[in-house]
Amino acid sequence: MKSYRKELWFNVPSRRGFVNITREVQDCIDASGIAEGLCLVNAMHITASVFINDDESGLHHDYEVWLEKLAPHEPVSGYRHNVGEDNADAHMKRQIMGREVVVAVTAGRLDFGTWERIFYGEFDGRRKKRVLVKIIGE
Ligand code: ZN
Repeated sequence: MKSYRKELWFNVPSRRGFVNITREVQDCIDASGIAEGLCLVNAMHITASVFINDDESGLHHDYEVWLEKLAPHEPVSGYRHNVGEDNADAHMKRQIMGREVVVAVTAGRLDFGTWERIFYGEFDGRRKKRVLVKIIGE
C-alpha cells in the first residue's frame, strides 16, 4: 500500500469565504501515483471546514445567510467563548459544515457524482490556515 500526505495552505482575505479546492486535491492524487484507494481531506483548524457540494454562487450565498441565522457573528458579546476573542460563531459554523471529507479514488481520479466538488470553508479568515490531504491505496 502507498500513502501520500500534503498540507495545502489558504489565506482567505475576508472573515468568511468558500474556496473550491477540487483541482488542488486532484493534483495531490496525481502526485501520489495512487490509482485505487481513499482520499481524506480535512481542515486543520477548528474555525474552518472542508465539505462537498455544488460550485454554485447562489448556494454559497444561501449558506452564508443560513449560517448567520444559526450562529450570527454579532453581537460578539453574546457568546461565552468570546472572552479575549471574537470567533465563537466560527467554531459553530465549522461544526455544522464539517471537518473533513473522504472520497474514493478510482482509476486515479476523484470518484465523484456529477456536481460534487470539494470546498474549503473559512469562518475566521485573514490568516494562513492549513488543510491536510492524506491518500492511501495502490
Ligand atoms: Zn475561538
